[in-house]
Amino acid sequence: MESSPSSFGSLSSFETLAMKTHQVFFAYDRNQPNPSQDYRYCPLCGSELQATDQNGNRKCTRCGFVRYKNPFPGVTVLIEKENQVLLGKRQPSSFQGGKWCLPGGFIEYDEDFISAGRREVEEETGLRVSIESILSVMTNYLAPHLHTLVVTMLAHVDSGSAQPGDDIAELGWFPLAGPLPDMAFEADRHIIERYYATRVTGAPIDLDYAG
Ligand SMILES: [Zn+2]
Repeated sequence: MESSPSSFGSLSSFETLAMKTHQVFFAYDRNQPNPSQDYRYCPLCGSELQATDQNGNRKCTRCGFVRYKNPFPGVTVLIEKENQVLLGKRQPSSFQGGKWCLPGGFIEYDEDFISAGRREVEEETGLRVSIESILSVMTNYLAPHLHTLVVTMLAHVDSGSAQPGDDIAELGWFPLAGPLPDMAFEADRHIIERYYATRVTGAPIDLDYAG
């Protein structure tokens, strides 16, 4: 089991370095039946799609198209400045509206994940950042219709002044040491607390794309 965050202060430095990482997060009960809506008709020929396997993949019996039901790929960015982290308060109309999160979003089809991180930060905060490392990779079972695979990166500010945009209503710098506000995603809380406790920066980033 995970150590409770409040116990970090009593750990030795060795134990702190060994702090267990978590990379799979459950925001709803996966053991309960949670029917989620899915495409019923083939997007290519309009015929009805048939369920083909237990993973939710569906095949068109007419043209052979297969609808693969996969998690959505996303990015989040931990922007650190003077032992603080930049968080955004989500617009009321968005998923988990009114709660706080790391800047981030979904990766566009032709976009590498590093560029996606920089773009999402600029859209949501007005800041230009340099990506320093890959802190972790997370699976989030957020809702029956929303499973994500998220690459979390560490970054620092290059230029710009913080201005909320896109689906972020408000921005705030919070101490890495906490307390953190009401967080939308458990993965965000974990990565901030773990980074504060361990200062492990993770895997190096591709320098051709880091700046
Ligand atoms: Zn078809």
